[in-house]
Parts: sequence; structure tokens; C-alpha cells
Amino acid sequence: MEIAALDLEGVLIPEIWIGFAEKTGIDELRATTRDIPDYDVLMKQRLALLQQHKLGLPDIQEVIATMSPLDGAKDFVDWLKERFQLIILSDTFYEFSQPLMRQLDFPTLFCHRLIADDSGAIVDYKLRQVDPKRQCVKAFHQLNYRVIASGDSYNDTTMLAEADAGILFRAPDNVIAEFPQFPSVTSYEELKQAFCDASKRELSL
Ligand SMILES: [Mg+2]
Repeated sequence: MEIAALDLEGVLIPEIWIGFAEKTGIDELRATTRDIPDYDVLMKQRLALLQQHKLGLPDIQEVIATMSPLDGAKDFVDWLKERFQLIILSDTFYEFSQPLMRQLDFPTLFCHRLIADDSGAIVDYKLRQVDPKRQCVKAFHQLNYRVIASGDSYNDTTMLAEADAGILFRAPDNVIAEFPQFPSVTSYEELKQAFCDASKRELSL
């Protein structure tokens, strides 16, 4: 029995905050953990910017609804769901990802939560736990599942290491160089093949 654990942003959908910054023209929202390594500081800055621009959750979801999953992502998700128990492990927030998850037919998603007040303003956020992707893989092992995982960035590497097989997908060169133990692919066709190899089954099955 096998679970396919997939990262979301960079694997199935674009980076949401960057897309949102582009759609709204609020350039400061492009900042990521590469610019501000402390996630708490980064999130507080993002929430302050949303407040400053008077963007509440409904406005944000409206903007995100105009974004699309990556080309071929929906077909890949459908392919994977027929062959594995698919679970998406992401550091995004349910409220943020919802318009994009709808376009993927809502596969199971484990991520974090935003807290909005009655007016729709986002006042806080709640991270589910520390090192959540790795903790999920450990929990799936407890349930006697074999786990094949794929992601594109640093926040995926503990998940890839904990899994029975880890695959990098469209990862930046520095991540590929730093983690040579994981096979690295760039197309969904290659990723299908990598999942089949890790699962020791034929691509056509
Ligand atoms: Mg990612």
C-alpha cells in the first residue's frame, strides 16, 4: 500500500504569494523565505501589507481564483490518483489555496490555516506543527504505508529523506546540487516514470 506525497507550490501550482503579488501589483508581497529567512517575520510582514492595502480574505480568494495550476498538473493528479493514495503536503494555507485546489478537484491537502475576523481581514495564521511534511510521512509509516514523495524546494527535503523514495521536481540548481541522493526530474512524464520506478511497477499499469 503506497501513498504519493506531493508538494503543492512549484509542483502543481505556481508560488501563490508571487502570483498574488503580480496580480495585485504589490511588489513587497514577492518576498519569500529566501529574502526573509524567519518565517514569522515574513508572515507578519505579509499580513501587514494585506491590511495596509485593505485586502480581506474574499478579495484575496477572488484574485487567486484567476490563477491556474501549472500546465499538465490536473492530468498528472488524475493519473496519480488512479495508482496511489494521493496526499498533498504543503506549507500553504487552506484559505489561500482553495481556489487553485478547486481546479485540481480538491485532492486531500494537509497544510496550515489563516485566521480571519468577521470583516474578512486576516488577523493571524496557525501553523499545524513544526516540520509538518516530515511528521506526515512518519505518521503514514506508522499506518503501514510505503511513501513516495516529490517536491521542489528546501522545505521538502526532510519529507523526501523520511519517505521510502524521494524525487525532486523542477528544483533549483542549488537544491539539486545539495541533495544528489534524490533523483531529479522536470516533466510530468518523467515524474510518472520516477513514481513507477520507485513503486517497482510498469508505467502502463
Ligand atoms: Mg514547493
